[in-house]
Amino acid sequence: MEFNNLILFFVEALVYFAFMVTLLHQRHRIGIGVFITALGVMHFLETYLAAVFYVQLPFGVLSPGSSILFSGKLMMILLLYIKEDAGIVRAPIYGLLAGNFLTVLLALILQYHDTVSVVPGRVVDLSFIDEMGWLMLWGTTLLYIDALAIILIYERLGRSRRMPIWPRLFLSGAVVLTFDQVGFFAVLHLLNAAPLSVLWGGWIAKMLATLVFATLTTGYLRLARISAIPVSSRPIADIFNDLTFRERYEDLLDRSGRDALTGLWDRSRLEYEGQRLLQASVMAGSMTSLMVVDADHFKTINDDFGHLAGDQVLKATAAALQQCMRSGDRVYRFGGEEFVVLCEGLSHGDTVARAEQVRRAVEEQIVRPDGRPVTISIGVSSSDHDGTTLIALLSAADRRLYAAKRGGRNKVVGKDLSDADVRTVDDFA
Ligand code: GH3
Ligand code: MG
Ligand code: MG
Repeated sequence: MEFNNLILFFVEALVYFAFMVTLLHQRHRIGIGVFITALGVMHFLETYLAAVFYVQLPFGVLSPGSSILFSGKLMMILLLYIKEDAGIVRAPIYGLLAGNFLTVLLALILQYHDTVSVVPGRVVDLSFIDEMGWLMLWGTTLLYIDALAIILIYERLGRSRRMPIWPRLFLSGAVVLTFDQVGFFAVLHLLNAAPLSVLWGGWIAKMLATLVFATLTTGYLRLARISAIPVSSRPIADIFNDLTFRERYEDLLDRSGRDALTGLWDRSRLEYEGQRLLQASVMAGSMTSLMVVDADHFKTINDDFGHLAGDQVLKATAAALQQCMRSGDRVYRFGGEEFVVLCEGLSHGDTVARAEQVRRAVEEQIVRPDGRPVTISIGVSSSDHDGTTLIALLSAADRRLYAAKRGGRNKVVGKDLSDADVRTVDDFA
């Protein structure tokens, strides 16, 4: 009998997995809603089975509801995240949370009905929901934490040690389901005095289910040729923000952080996002270069023609800077007449060449009220040579900027392979 149950356990896992993954795989043809709705519908069966349906397996008594269906659901949520992103996977996570709360709320109201019996001998029984009211609320909250945690742990494992996919899937599932089992049991024990054997048997069943699902998922990803799953280039905090809708707030931030005079991003914005952008690009194996741009003898423009004339020159310089950059480059007004540009994925030599374009454009296009050209000096640094923190890049570029000033201004200076740390664009030609 136990062996029979074990076989059925595997068959159920296989059927569940094959069915759900087919829906997920076909999402571009049939719509992602089909997969998400199916996931939501299964939740009812899962809860019902976990409440009343238990079978004997070689290692203990368990319910397919809390092992196969629950572990399966978390694995499906993780798989949806792997194939899409945090923005998409939020839908089922929040949908399940909302649906569960509504279920509990409606069940509370339903109890106040006077019901009639339409099938003789069959009395409607809502006591199961009544008993489970608090448990369901707790389970729902746990599920929400589980769903966020499995994604974050999966990301964390991929980052810290570039772990292959199978152990990554299994470990994230195992950690989260262990937490879930302990959390759920604690309350079950408090409310219903459930014995310790329930904790143990349920845990083994969940681990077994995770083992099966991690293996099936790895197999699927291999078959679908998604074997080389890249580590997401986004910082973990970012993913979490997406999952918890915090990026609405980030959106708001996005609209602030602008410099009023030039319309560029301001210094606070650079400080807020610079390090994260840099880290993400380093994680993704690409390099980031940085320019520090400073107007030459700017003080004399103010002194000779007034502050307003100086403002006009600043605006024109900012516009020229932006025009010469690629659309993805980030241009900040760092201080008075100083600008910083972050260029992701641009080599040092290419960045020096681009800085030279800007330098020439400013010299050719922007004139002071007396007709003399405005000039700028630029220092360039890159993450492959100068370090991978914002501070390191800023200080290396700043050093070179001052080398450009010392060297006569109206110059671009990049890294030097010798000690002098002064290298003009001619050296890169
Ligand atoms: P260098 O070539 O060595 O960089 O000389 P500089 O005169 O440009 O250097 P300095 O840093 O001494 O002068 C910067 C000046 O920029 C001083 C300040 O009055 C002016 N400034 C700062 N912010 C603004 C602004 O928003 N508008 C205007 N018009 N001037 C500004
Ligand atoms: Mg200056
Ligand atoms: Mg300055």
